Amino acid sequence: MAVFVLSKNKKPLMPCSEKRARLLLSKKQAVVHKTYPFTIRLKKQTGNATQPLQLKIDPGSRYTGVALVMDLPTLMRALCLFELQHRGHQISEALTQRRAFRRRRRNQLRYRPARFDNRTRKDGWLPPSVQHRLDTTLALVQKLKRLCPVSAIVFERVKFDMQKMLNPDIQGVEYQQGTLFQYEVREYLLERHQRTCAYCAGESLDPILEVEHKHPRAQGGTNSIHNLVIACRTCNQAKGSLTLSEFLSTLKNTKLDKVRKVKITQILAGKVFRLKDAGAVNACRNQLGRDLASQQLPVSTGTGAQTKYNRMRYQLPKTHALDALMTGELTKPVEGWSRPTLVVKAMGRGCYQRTRLDQYGFPRGYLQRKKTYFGFQTGDLVISTVTKGKKQGIHVGRVAVRDSGYFNVQTKTGGVQGVSYKTCQIIQRNTGYHYYFNSKVAH
Ligand SMILES: [Zn+2]
Repeated sequence: MAVFVLSKNKKPLMPCSEKRARLLLSKKQAVVHKTYPFTIRLKKQTGNATQPLQLKIDPGSRYTGVALVMDLPTLMRALCLFELQHRGHQISEALTQRRAFRRRRRNQLRYRPARFDNRTRKDGWLPPSVQHRLDTTLALVQKLKRLCPVSAIVFERVKFDMQKMLNPDIQGVEYQQGTLFQYEVREYLLERHQRTCAYCAGESLDPILEVEHKHPRAQGGTNSIHNLVIACRTCNQAKGSLTLSEFLSTLKNTKLDKVRKVKITQILAGKVFRLKDAGAVNACRNQLGRDLASQQLPVSTGTGAQTKYNRMRYQLPKTHALDALMTGELTKPVEGWSRPTLVVKAMGRGCYQRTRLDQYGFPRGYLQRKKTYFGFQTGDLVISTVTKGKKQGIHVGRVAVRDSGYFNVQTKTGGVQGVSYKTCQIIQRNTGYHYYFNSKVAH
């Protein structure tokens, strides 16, 4: 991973290689500014020559991939890969539980009259779990903007570009084998038909699915998205260059043909195929688009199908960070994609709750009101040097503070419990995130 570099007066400079950073540090020309993401600060004033840096984002519901890319004339060099892990589902669970407890307590006061319905929601309100997703993504973008001179943002705005597919200019164009547009159309159709044959609903047991013209090309059918469906090869070949009604009249009374008759009659009667729940996902992504646009950087967009198409062409494994790298239009060779991914996991910053509740909603002990103990907070990154006893060794990781002064440290290899605060030294204060490197392909 590239190392972020700040100037003497903390202005972002171009990131450098790990080797160069080591050299600068050993010559005492720079100091460590931040551990995660690793950032150094130069001690002397320097020039600030920059090259175009792109920030590419692939927003998802649980994970958001982010790639920092140097856009050189002949190639794209991936400098840093990030995987942002959201905690939307935890937020949603916590709020659901809180609502249940409140409702239960309110129901005990059954003689108290209801208040009138005076609750309103602000314009542009999003569910807290979704809002959190937007907030954390934007926070990471802003953080990276402070560490390096980002000059453009590319993000995956939609799964499919409907406008492009419905655009009459493209409808007339003869599409060629292997183009992005054809790929996008096929992915869209597969999604729309839930990956089953539109004529037999998988009754033929043929696993090969193809793009099919309802009104055949030979009889003047167009490549318009309205004239296309997904069909299995068996159905596609049986239909050949017949129109739908001609195909219907050739059908016999076998089990397969009976299903086909039902399906084709529905299509002839004007059944419209629609994508399932595309709206909810798009609302969130559109908001992210508006938020990113407010960053005063040029923002360009890509589609999910385009990302997948690029990933196949470059033959990269599927990870969230590499999906981000593959977002948008790509023509140049890509370098540096195999570097480890820095996982940025949203952990929250503790809770306001004063007590935990038992399963009936009754209080079960009281929580501490203090967050800081002996100068440490849960979530701080510490190094604990224990010189004797059973826990002897050097432990680096996230600390969980205890009133007693004996903390737990979550290390890479598990954790160690009950180390004294006196052995601990802070590396980085809690920022609400947990950072670690992940080099294996997951999810
Ligand atoms: Zn079929």
